Amino acid sequence: MRIDLHTHSTASDGTDTPAELMLAARAAGLDVVAITDHDTTGGWAEAELARPAGLTVIRGAEFSTRLVTNDRVVSVHLLGYLFDPASEPIVAEQARLKAERRRRGLSIVEKMVADGIPISAGQVLAIADGAPIGRPHIGRALVAAGVVKTVDEAFGRLLAGRSPYYVPKLDTDLLTAVRMISAAGGVSVIAHPRARGAARALTAGVIAELTGAGLGGLEVWHPDHDEVGRAELLRIAAECGLLTTGSSDYHGHNKTLELGQESTRIGTLRALVAAAGAATAPLGEVA
Ligand code: AMP
Ligand code: ZN
Repeated sequence: MRIDLHTHSTASDGTDTPAELMLAARAAGLDVVAITDHDTTGGWAEAELARPAGLTVIRGAEFSTRLVTNDRVVSVHLLGYLFDPASEPIVAEQARLKAERRRRGLSIVEKMVADGIPISAGQVLAIADGAPIGRPHIGRALVAAGVVKTVDEAFGRLLAGRSPYYVPKLDTDLLTAVRMISAAGGVSVIAHPRARGAARALTAGVIAELTGAGLGGLEVWHPDHDEVGRAELLRIAAECGLLTTGSSDYHGHNKTLELGQESTRIGTLRALVAAAGAATAPLGEVA
């Protein structure tokens, strides 16, 4: 069984439409795929309509959250699966974040324009096409303008956190997000906890505390994790009784990652589905 529980579509900053994502998942030989766009469930309906026979779809989202430790604020991505998309706190927070992403994306563009970089707000809004704006959308505008060759190069040179053009956004408090997903019947899994950025802040102690608040799992097998990080996460998950998932974090052409590059075990998926409430069920069979 190939099970990929973390992918993005054009509903956020991927380049495949939700329908294309479904077909690409089938073509890649996946049995199960989760659609987990940043801060939105906007791709769920199209994914449901386009789901090919034999492909099971887990509906989810990747929540932008922040963790404050020792006066440092770090960004943590939190995957939420099978939550009720009509849950009022989630609807309100996703609306706030969409506005926040627009403000922040346009501030980055404004700084670049002031420096003579030939992109425009209108161009970035057109590329995002109604999706919550992410830095990859600005990256694509920079590629189109010939400023860089790839979105990856845009991140390396102009969009990274240390870049003078960087502008932060106000993300949801991590503990609040964990509780919000649980209250909506969903299961939360920390995305790539040993990738650069949040790795040092997400200690075993912090993860244990989040587990007490309802955290369901850790994404262990992720392209950004080395063997040491994976082994450490497996140890923490065993201590806390957390699920351990594997996923590609596919973004279409924005990143050079293949669907199904990493996979989750079927027993883990069964446990995840069993832990979720009844509001949102998997589309298709979980064998
Ligand atoms: P934002 O949500 O606007 O802060 O942007 C973060 C998004 O950019 C995440 O979806 C990342 O996967 C993506 N990202 C980070 N680094 C790169 C890169 N080098 N190339 C393409 N996308 C990236
Ligand atoms: Zn992601």
